Amino acid sequence: MEYQLTQRSLPLDDSWDVIVVGGGPAGCSAAASAAREGAKTLLLEATGALGGMGTSGLVPAWCPFTDKQQIIYGGIAERVLKQCISGMPHVAEDHFDWTPIDSELLKRIYDDLVTDAGASILFHTVLSDVDVDDQGNIQALLVSNKGGLSAYKAKVYIDCTGDADLSAWAGAEIEKGDEEIGELQAATHCFMITNVDEYHYRHGEWMHGSNPKSPVFKMAADPKYDLIIDNHLCNNIVGPATVGFNAGHLWGVDNTDPVSLSKGLIKGRRIAAQMRDALAEYHPHAFAGSYLVSTGSLMGIRETRRVMGDYVLRVEDYAERRSFDDEIGRNSYYLDIHMSKEAIRRKGHDPEKVARRYNPGESHGIPYRCLTPRGLNNLLVAGRCISADRAVQGSVRVMPVCLVMGEAAGMAGAFAATTDRHNVHMIDVKQLRKRLREEGAYLP
Ligand SMILES: Cc1cc2nc3c(=O)[nH]c(=O)nc-3n(C[C@H](O)[C@H](O)[C@H](O)COP(=O)(O)OP(=O)(O)OC[C@H]3O[C@@H](n4cnc5c(N)ncnc54)[C@H](O)[C@@H]3O)c2cc1C
Repeated sequence: MEYQLTQRSLPLDDSWDVIVVGGGPAGCSAAASAAREGAKTLLLEATGALGGMGTSGLVPAWCPFTDKQQIIYGGIAERVLKQCISGMPHVAEDHFDWTPIDSELLKRIYDDLVTDAGASILFHTVLSDVDVDDQGNIQALLVSNKGGLSAYKAKVYIDCTGDADLSAWAGAEIEKGDEEIGELQAATHCFMITNVDEYHYRHGEWMHGSNPKSPVFKMAADPKYDLIIDNHLCNNIVGPATVGFNAGHLWGVDNTDPVSLSKGLIKGRRIAAQMRDALAEYHPHAFAGSYLVSTGSLMGIRETRRVMGDYVLRVEDYAERRSFDDEIGRNSYYLDIHMSKEAIRRKGHDPEKVARRYNPGESHGIPYRCLTPRGLNNLLVAGRCISADRAVQGSVRVMPVCLVMGEAAGMAGAFAATTDRHNVHMIDVKQLRKRLREEGAYLP
């Protein structure tokens, strides 16, 4: 059924050069970077905090910032990491790989990053629709918040929603998950457990699910804990006596489907409670007196839509460690795809194994063209929904890479906003790379 709106006009704010939608790692660095270049920038965020998965989603650790030789996610990314480390007394100064996250600290770091650069933020503001003309120019965004429905207009827009809401609703070409077998990577509802006996946590058996002696195998085998279905159990000390968990898999959760997401959140909270109880039973020295203090306010979503851009980064590029003339950053993270065993069987291969992990010092480039959606002139995309095939998305989706892509998109958006046609496909990419280098980007 359809409901026909009575024709009416909405309040409009058309005072912006650049509007960034979504305040995860990509959106925070995009907004800060655009504002730093002098663009009047607005960041719209659906929740009440910046950081996306790393804060509201309670993902407890950063993926590696180094290629096992040096930091390769430079600029804003490196500065955010170092600020996090300096605010966490239990983390060593040079702990650049799998650094734990204090989510409250990180929220404040992002608030400062964005506002100090001069950008404005509207929290609890959800992008709800996009108005686009037949030439591929976005005319306005429709947003909803406690002020009701209203419209915002800018010269250039940057989609950092993770799910590519802005691009999809503007009519961009989209791919989603594995289109052949219809699978999305598993979701994980992250959580935090406190009052953990830190001595026994640190000195007991390493709990990670890759350790055959991890308690997770007994937890998963115990029928009492029917929602613990596999050995996925990543965990980090995120504060005093407090452990953050990226643990458990939820299959079939689609973040672009409100019904699916709502069911997933209810199940995710049940999984977190079972995990606490199972840990208390199977790792009692550390967890007997523990307390489930929080689950993420956002579901942990690894994959939904990908926006097809002027270039689509493919698994072959990854395997060949390819460089590009227009690259805006480099990446060395492995192809971390949470595929079901059934999908690997049906596809006949596991892309992670096909492309293999990198040796120290190896990386591939990320072309600027992966941030420029085909057919739309004044739109950029950054973060986990950039133009890549499904396998490479499993790598470039992680937070250090998202920060790097965001910084480049913000800068490019500010450049395009100063041109007559605001066309992101026509900016001077040499100048972009020069400015990124000046700001500390790793572009060897
Ligand atoms: C379970 C899990 C574990 C992970 N583990 C790690 C890890 O250990 N280390 C690591 O580095 N990475 C990890 N990742 C990957 C990483 O956290 C995400 O891929 C990354 O945060 C994506 O960044 P992003 O900025 O694209 O989007 P997100 O972090 O998803 O942020 C998107 C933001 O946009 C907002 N938004 C969405 N739609 C709208 C809308 N319509 N209107 C307004 N705002 C909107 C959201 O509220 C959110 O704040 C993990 C991811 C998951 C799900």
